[in-house]
Amino acid sequence: MAVITYKCPNCGGELVFDPASQKYKCEYCVSEFTQRQLEEMTPAEGSERVDDTADEPAFTAEDGEKKNSSSSRNGSAQTAMVYTCPSCGAEVVTDETTAATFCYYCHNPVVLGGRLSGEYLPDKIIPFSIDRKSATEQFLKFVGKKKFVPKAFFNEEQIEKFSGVYYPYWIYDCDTDGWINAEATKVRTWRSGDTEYTETSIFQVERAGDITLKNIPKNALKKSDKALVNGVFPFRLGEAKQFSMGYLSGFLAEKRDMEKQEFTAQLHQETETYSQQILRDSITGYSTVNVQNSRINQRKETWNYLLLPVWVLTYAGRNGKVYYYTMNGQTGTIRGELPVDYKKLSLFSLVAGLIVAVVCMIGGYLV
Ligand SMILES: [Zn+2]
Ligand SMILES: [Zn+2]
Repeated sequence: MAVITYKCPNCGGELVFDPASQKYKCEYCVSEFTQRQLEEMTPAEGSERVDDTADEPAFTAEDGEKKNSSSSRNGSAQTAMVYTCPSCGAEVVTDETTAATFCYYCHNPVVLGGRLSGEYLPDKIIPFSIDRKSATEQFLKFVGKKKFVPKAFFNEEQIEKFSGVYYPYWIYDCDTDGWINAEATKVRTWRSGDTEYTETSIFQVERAGDITLKNIPKNALKKSDKALVNGVFPFRLGEAKQFSMGYLSGFLAEKRDMEKQEFTAQLHQETETYSQQILRDSITGYSTVNVQNSRINQRKETWNYLLLPVWVLTYAGRNGKVYYYTMNGQTGTIRGELPVDYKKLSLFSLVAGLIVAVVCMIGGYLV
């Protein structure tokens, strides 16, 4: 299953996923099909074509991909993949991470099934629920309110470039158990006659607990502008569906090019910091709190590979600066203003994803 296009059984037109109805629509005869009906169809398949003119030997993978390295021997080779469009037979040139696109010539949707199989088969997907029409309306409303936006940013030609993209994400859950100990003080002042008294009580406070951190997202595509794509978090991950190729039809999709190992150290650091913070925040009612020792153990971790829907528009300004506009394809959350505070964005998305349970508290005691 290399290159596939879903064809309408009634007229042979291309089927695309329709976010509004959550069904598959033929744009020619206006037929509609359910997920189950789509899965029972046999999609049209394109074939690979080996290009003998490549500088370096062409590599043919099992699933019919052809690798065409434009040679730069210093290791920074740009690799393009060439497929044949199942509808018109033209060549479809893609990046190594492209998983769904459109044929440049006939504009029909093309899903590169082989890119999302085996170890790259997503665990789940959140299908688009905001369609192009309402995404465009909200975009126009958004820029309409902004001053100093160049007209070209929202002219018709520009809006046609508005793309629905499925981005690859690792979603990380983990359980930790933690312990902290802190020195805390309570200060009491009172007056008797002309004298003011201050009493400072010093406490040794301990907190221990099991902490569950859930739904920490990591964008797993090197080339994506992470701050902007992450900026449209959170998604309602509970509504994710079993992955099916059909959802990609009519959209762009990317497969991951970053593996779990690349995030492990960073995630352990983050989960440790969060666990400490949660325990620290449970110490309340003191004038001062000074954490002295802590111990956080990682216990169980779970990784899920998801594709998440984002509407993306980019615009190159006259000064060479690239402007972005992104919208969550599930909830409609918008990021569009620049400059972007990258740090704030990633922190926000992390905090929004946390579900926290602290049990087994040990209270403070007086020294
Ligand atoms: Zn049709
Ligand atoms: Zn074509």
